[in-house]
Amino acid sequence: MILLDGRSPSRGGAPLIDGFKRRISYLRLSVTDRCDLRCSYCMPERMTFLPKREVLTLEELFDLASGFIDRGVTKIRITGGEPLVRRDIMDLFAALGRRLGTGLEELTLTTNATQLAGHAEALAEAGVRRVNISLDTLDRAKFAELTRRDALPQVMEGIAAARAAGLKVKLNAVALKGVNEDELPDLISWAHAQGHEVTLIEVMPLGDVEEERLDQYLPLNTVRARLEQRWTLVDNDASTGGPARYVDIAETGGRLGFITPHSNNFCASCNRLRVTATGQLYPCLGGSERVDLRAALRSGAPQEELARAFEQAMTIKPEKHLFRMDERGAAPHLARHMSMTGG
Ligand code: SAM
Ligand code: SF4
Repeated sequence: MILLDGRSPSRGGAPLIDGFKRRISYLRLSVTDRCDLRCSYCMPERMTFLPKREVLTLEELFDLASGFIDRGVTKIRITGGEPLVRRDIMDLFAALGRRLGTGLEELTLTTNATQLAGHAEALAEAGVRRVNISLDTLDRAKFAELTRRDALPQVMEGIAAARAAGLKVKLNAVALKGVNEDELPDLISWAHAQGHEVTLIEVMPLGDVEEERLDQYLPLNTVRARLEQRWTLVDNDASTGGPARYVDIAETGGRLGFITPHSNNFCASCNRLRVTATGQLYPCLGGSERVDLRAALRSGAPQEELARAFEQAMTIKPEKHLFRMDERGAAPHLARHMSMTGG
């Protein structure tokens, strides 16, 4: 709290609109590339993490986020790596929470929930209302195999603590061939019984994970067809402006989202930018275009340099991404891991 107290918001500015007339209102801000799990589709066991000096300080993260809010960003999702492993991260949540109502409308996070039990109350106090929790299996042994850590009990505690603190929980599960594919209906039934929405995600070829990507890839149209044999799926046109397509499941009474990055179906309305923990702005998760915001922040004229960097980002945001997932043994589409860009 001490670090960020008294930091004042920067000046306002024109909204951020890219070359395809998409207005940017959503920032995904990664606060660390580190993590206490090692999900096999996300990173290898022996992952090399960044030296701490390369990572933005909490003050820099706050100033950056404020700069985006002043340019029309209304929603910020804190991500990583695992955001809750970063020391003093609650100071950033508290400081950004004070910007709710002054341009910022929603502050949220994506977490693996291993440390959520200890932070749920403080997050709610900071003004967080919803959390996305990544959970691919309810089977402890499978969880331990998939994440290479035996942490399912802590995750379940984290989910319970989030509910107790009044946070709305959405679960994200990556659909993985031969790993959790048979279990997805149980995961969905359980989540819906608890009142949690679920979103399924297709695995993306980001970063070398020492496993064959094609062996992990389970297209969601296959999953949907299987679910339709069991349940009545009713298309729901509710759009969050995000990449998911939703259905309501008549039998469970819950909502299910599908994120299918391989079909590009959400690029036309993409309103988001991603910033890594080192301050690299990636206007597209599937692209390598980037702008160095850390250099701007650490320059002699940060306000001016940031404004210039934002303008540059608007000119390089691509119309859409293209992931290839059809070639066995292929190099990753991008060398960058998802834990770098933030999910
Ligand atoms: N550690 C936090 C978590 O797991 O929720 C936040 C960061 S994590 C990189 C964000 C999301 O990215 C998670 O839901 C994770 O399942 C997903 N993810 C990681 N690598 C992925 C990949 N190669 N393809 C698809 N989703 C991936
Ligand atoms: Fe960590 Fe999240 Fe990546 Fe899993 S998906 S290794 S929890 S950053």
